[in-house]
Amino acid sequence: MKYEAVIGLEVHAQVQTNTKIFCGCSATFGAEPNSHVCPICLGLPGVLPVLNRDVVELGIRLGIATHCQIAPFSQFARKNYFYPDLPKGYQVSMFDLPLAEHGFVEIFSEDETGNGTKKIALTRIHMEEDAGKNVHDGIEVGSLVDLNRAGVPLLEIVSEPEISSGDEAVAYLKALRAILIYTGVSDADMEKGNFRCDANVSIRPVGSTQLGTRSEIKNMNSFRYVQKAIAYEMIRQEEILEEGGRVVQETRLWDDKKGMTFSMRSKEQAHDYRYFPEPDLVPIKIDQEWIAKVRAELPELPEAKRKRFIENYALPAYDATILTSSQALADFFEEAVSVFPKAKIVSNWVMGDLLRELKQDDKEIEDALIKPKQLAALLKLIDDGTISGKIAKTVFEEMVQSGKSPEDIVQEKGLTQMSDEGELGRLIDRVIAANPTEVEGYRAGKTKLMGFFVGQVMRETGGKANPGKVNTLLKEKLDGA
Ligand code: ADP
Ligand code: MG
Ligand code: ZN
Repeated sequence: MKYEAVIGLEVHAQVQTNTKIFCGCSATFGAEPNSHVCPICLGLPGVLPVLNRDVVELGIRLGIATHCQIAPFSQFARKNYFYPDLPKGYQVSMFDLPLAEHGFVEIFSEDETGNGTKKIALTRIHMEEDAGKNVHDGIEVGSLVDLNRAGVPLLEIVSEPEISSGDEAVAYLKALRAILIYTGVSDADMEKGNFRCDANVSIRPVGSTQLGTRSEIKNMNSFRYVQKAIAYEMIRQEEILEEGGRVVQETRLWDDKKGMTFSMRSKEQAHDYRYFPEPDLVPIKIDQEWIAKVRAELPELPEAKRKRFIENYALPAYDATILTSSQALADFFEEAVSVFPKAKIVSNWVMGDLLRELKQDDKEIEDALIKPKQLAALLKLIDDGTISGKIAKTVFEEMVQSGKSPEDIVQEKGLTQMSDEGELGRLIDRVIAANPTEVEGYRAGKTKLMGFFVGQVMRETGGKANPGKVNTLLKEKLDGA
């Protein structure tokens, strides 16, 4: 039988606020363990939480950016469970009255055309507090608990089960992450765990409309893990079904070293969290005015930017998708194009050379030494014939490493293209004289030898000869005589 995958994703994004969601403690990452704590986030008795308004506002922002309806009335609820990193014995989350519902994220196919788009529906977005962290490493006996993260604000974004492959899941996560970063709702830094994902995966026979039993792979903070875990899970479930077995609903974890998921705990169907409305927090009322204000402050979002890039710059959809994947990259591109308005050429350099160099150095576009105006200046130098395309690659590498302007590099290293016909002519005469056998061969019909002659001239000039001129002159001299 042929099966298809059905995937629904739950993303936890840390909201970019100075302080925690219900107290004034700092929400910054990486501090001395248990230095960002107070009676409220420690869960001491007799204290009252106070909601951080910024979290609500950023939640509204994300809701609008993902086309959700913002609930006029929402409410926190207690999700009760025991775990050492949860001092209160419950997590303050939202249950039946979430902040936002019924949105979607538009995703783009990852192939070279980038033309395929699909809308993945969002079930809901809700606010909640993060738990602390159990620390096992470097401790001789037992574990310790660090509660700096307890009470840090999160937004949970739940998708409908509409994703049908690992590739699509990654495309969705990338699109959602871009929205979070564009809107300033979260830095979505995956290494810090500020953007993590639970993948619910089931399979069903192709053509069936019923959902299969799912497994939930918890807490992945890398696109690669998500992709691999989903692929693994699809095969694992298919094998079970093919052998006549039954997939059990359970929570699993991805082990990247072993390249497999393993069972963490089985999950009963029934709600075992005993949710009830949080009695210490008043319900949240959001009026149209507030929503309108937040909407008016939203920047241009990736979806809109992508469409504008295709229309205004006549770029292929694929280029537009990549260039708008981050605001900083899009800004870099646009600034370069404002100086050197041949958009496709700029796009090729940004997507190819620039992104490759950055990846090699493990850098983000924000940290790049090369600035958009300098890239534009380099492209001008190629365009007006000052340097050859080949030399430009060398200059570019140096620009990336040093942040110097292309003009300075070209001058310092004497890389200006040789276009003087007299000078080139004399050089070509020498090359022809030095290679009589090849000349004879060429004239006897082995025209492929042209490449050999061009190569010789380039070698003599250290790659600086103007290739167009060299070709013309060589042809004249070889064919003419
Ligand atoms: P829970 O809170 O127990 O994780 P939910 O009903 O809220 O359960 O579902 C969470 C996620 O699981 C959603 O993203 C949803 O789309 C997805 N999901 C639910 N059923 C399935 C299924 N049969 N196959 C794949 N994903 C599913
Ligand atoms: Mg879940
Ligand atoms: Zn606190």
